[in-house]
Amino acid sequence: MAQLILMPGKERSAFKQHHPWLFAGSVGRLEGRARPGDTVEVLADNLRPLGRAAYSPKSQIRARFWTFDPEESVDDAFFKRRVAAAVARRQALPELRGQQGLRLIHAESDGLPGVIADQYGDTVVVQLTSAGADKWRNAIVAGLVKATGCARVYERSDSDVRGLEGLEPTTGWLHGEAPDSPLTIAENGVTLGIDIAGGHKTGFYLDQRENRFLLGQLAAGKDVLNCFCYTGGFSLQALAGGAASVLSIDSSGPALDQARANLALNPALPADRATWLEADVFQALRDFRKEGRQFDLIVLDPPKFAPSASHADRAAKAYKDINLLGCRLLKPGGLLMTYSCSGGIGLELFQKIIAGAALDAGREARIVRRLAGAADHPVALNFPEGEYLKGLLVQID
Ligand code: SAH
Repeated sequence: MAQLILMPGKERSAFKQHHPWLFAGSVGRLEGRARPGDTVEVLADNLRPLGRAAYSPKSQIRARFWTFDPEESVDDAFFKRRVAAAVARRQALPELRGQQGLRLIHAESDGLPGVIADQYGDTVVVQLTSAGADKWRNAIVAGLVKATGCARVYERSDSDVRGLEGLEPTTGWLHGEAPDSPLTIAENGVTLGIDIAGGHKTGFYLDQRENRFLLGQLAAGKDVLNCFCYTGGFSLQALAGGAASVLSIDSSGPALDQARANLALNPALPADRATWLEADVFQALRDFRKEGRQFDLIVLDPPKFAPSASHADRAAKAYKDINLLGCRLLKPGGLLMTYSCSGGIGLELFQKIIAGAALDAGREARIVRRLAGAADHPVALNFPEGEYLKGLLVQID
């Protein structure tokens, strides 16, 4: 095994904090030969062993730790254990047991950097985003089949971040065959179709499950505006919760087609209360303002405006803009359910942006709940970067 030796003083984050990433600037030298994804032994400058990591020469994140135990073998059995532990963690939480749509592996936060696995019924979708994860594809898939007994595994490794690792996009069936009928899951009593091959991410935004449930609890009798609705997850929960009307906006035609199809899968829901609008949210909110339209409850769940801290300034302006418009469109006593899934925008900054938006809208507002990703998207305490999704439920005077 090749050895990766750190610069003097650069062992702290690995040794003291068990942070799984080693940046290029911390690495002193490589002794021996290692190809992308190979396992290397990581040593401090004084040659104290720190653990074993996947080497990624193309990436600024030069290595990702698989283990902080310098003696632990990284082999098929290792992945079988790690995958089984991740699946068992979900089974141990009653709220997650029996969910048909479930994140089984949340990458670094489950001790498997670069590995995402989402279950939709008896189908599991994997996304491998790092050189190390890519190398261990077969072991990971075998571990998933063993731990879940799923009928099939599909790979959706077409995320842009693979480019940073020098990896090509790759998609297709890794185990079993395409199912005969379209995939659906039940979530909080609503049926949703999932397009694993063509949808966003692995097909669906499982991280918002608990927040969609909360919206259902809040929606009775309300005029709801759901911005960035994707396939209608929040919209359908609002209808199920007894909303008076639900107007949903997205710029993606295919997402809205799926949203309409999802509504049709739930004949018990009052379809006549739902309206779908294909539009740019920034423009649509301005138009509503001009038309003098008002809502009781507004959901803002935009895409990632700031993938990293370097985009934070521009992203902050975009968040401010939609939240300012959102505040203006709320009736007195209305609720704003607002999110950021940008890694580059921390919770503190997000709260400041929302405070500025309310102030500029001339509205007094208070946080009544802090919101985050669902329990199957845990945040490992040694990996605070895992906390990408943050939200606030704000009551507006
Ligand atoms: N709330 C959704 C997930 C939202 S993902 C759920 O619970 O499933 C973000 C969505 O924003 C995507 O569907 C994307 O198509 C849409 N989008 C991105 N930019 C947009 C814009 N400027 N206007 C409207 N929709 C946009």
